[in-house]
Amino acid sequence: MHPCLYARDEAVNAVTPEFARRFATVKARYFSRDPRLWPVFQDPGFARLNAFRSLHLPPEARLAAWPDGAARMADLTENMPVPAEMRDPAQPLEELLFAAALSKDWENPSCVENVITMSADPAIYGAQMGVLANPNLVYSEYAGVAEDLEKKVVRQIARLAGYDPQRATGIFTQGGTFCNLYGYLLGLRKSLPEAKHKGLGHYQDYRFVNSQGGHYSNITNLSLLGVDIENKTIRIKVGDNNDIDLADLERTLTACFALKHVVPTIMLTMGTTDTFGVDWVKPVCELRDRLCERFEIPVKPHIHVDAAIGWSMIFFLEYDFERNPLGINEATLAGIRRNTERFAQLRYADSFTVDFQKWGYVPYTSSLVMIKNADDLRAMENDPENFSYFERDIQGQTHLQSTIECSRGASGLFGAYAALNYMGVEGYQITLAHSLQNANYFRFRLGQLANVKLVAQENQGPSVGFKLYNPEWVADPEEEFAFELARSPDEAYRQRLQRNTAFHRDAFKRRGKVGLYTNWVEAIARSEYDAGGKYSYIAGEKAVFMNPACSRREIDLFVAKLMG
Ligand SMILES: *Cc1c(COP(=O)(O)O)cnc(C)c1O
Repeated sequence: MHPCLYARDEAVNAVTPEFARRFATVKARYFSRDPRLWPVFQDPGFARLNAFRSLHLPPEARLAAWPDGAARMADLTENMPVPAEMRDPAQPLEELLFAAALSKDWENPSCVENVITMSADPAIYGAQMGVLANPNLVYSEYAGVAEDLEKKVVRQIARLAGYDPQRATGIFTQGGTFCNLYGYLLGLRKSLPEAKHKGLGHYQDYRFVNSQGGHYSNITNLSLLGVDIENKTIRIKVGDNNDIDLADLERTLTACFALKHVVPTIMLTMGTTDTFGVDWVKPVCELRDRLCERFEIPVKPHIHVDAAIGWSMIFFLEYDFERNPLGINEATLAGIRRNTERFAQLRYADSFTVDFQKWGYVPYTSSLVMIKNADDLRAMENDPENFSYFERDIQGQTHLQSTIECSRGASGLFGAYAALNYMGVEGYQITLAHSLQNANYFRFRLGQLANVKLVAQENQGPSVGFKLYNPEWVADPEEEFAFELARSPDEAYRQRLQRNTAFHRDAFKRRGKVGLYTNWVEAIARSEYDAGGKYSYIAGEKAVFMNPACSRREIDLFVAKLMG
């Protein structure tokens, strides 16, 4: 089945009654802030917050709708000292509640901005449990049993991804960015161990390798490590679907090895942020192994996969696509199948990034770096004399000496555990399939409009990127987009691209927030490479469908507005 099946007709996108029934159960149980199911929401402050946010007010109406909203806002911006006197616990801190209630309301069905979503009820409950207990994961004595919970989640994710749960390990850390930092550092410590004391490039020249489709953390982390980005980082080209170009990777690695440059880490991506490009991992591993053998490379490059958003697809690796027990519609079933063929290769990665805080519906921050072979962490161990704070006998039992950070909070871990074990694989499958059915329905509706170009059409993630053209100038958006892709030094090219972008940007600004709160992105697509290998970015609009509260109603409203 072709991944673009969604474009065929309305029928392949219809929500089946079985699926609708299942999704209604999931939504009522896990995404409704129901104080009868989750008594934690009975707290008077939480109840007021939830009552306000459940009004789903448009962004510009929220401040005025809060009692004394303007005064509260003024209070927040005032320059005031910490009060000199104590306050009675019975007295509510109105400004605290105000700040919480009026922070971004991801529960609003129209919220489809970027890869962010409301948290699941069980995840909130779990995270609060973690906050209440307040273990510190830095070290067993400060963590107590929480450390065993961390290990249990790691084994559960290892099994889902196809890692050996006995050999694998993992660390809950500060965001997906840090997970990727671990990926780089693992490679660095394994292949250039002296760098720990001497810095980079002291004994041997090196090159880090990542993808041009990668998240910006793929670059900022290297800068953090003191890597020469301009001269010692190689960004591999990507194909039309934003996945890594294997031929370019092969040329690059061959050149590096021939010149005796160490390649500490190859950073891949499964699920690029804006376009959900998914790299194949197995061919990259095979390529690495083949070239390492040929050039007699003693330490193989570490392959880290940035699966910060994409990881959620591992809930479908065992799904019975033939029987389709959840009644997922045809268009989305085909899309998920396309994804699982790729995500089945996640197990070949030496480590990968999991953001529970994204498509895992867990409150911030909840990120986990998974490491296939626990022995890899040995290379990360810092010298024992740095750890004089800690009881010597217990040190060896934990990741203490190998972690980047010292204190590690546990609310993300507790939230993740609760979400995984209340919702189970089935609950996740249903929630994710709902997101993707919305995304495909949106793609289908956009595809019917005469002046819209849908970007990265084959990619079957939650993000939908598109470009809007002026029908008076553009008869065929596909042709116009092809023109834009063919990067040219001509002034006429630049002007036409600029005119199109300005038209879309202006329409986006004037439209206001109706139905879906979409985003403007400066790089919804990249041009083709010119003769010098250069490319440029093409701006556009995107909606990301992770929100369980979002329905076809919001999509229809938005599309109706687009049609004017
Ligand atoms: C969000 C994202 C990151 C960064 O994760 P944070 O948790 O925001 O630090 C890295 N890679 C990809 C692909 C992402 O989408």
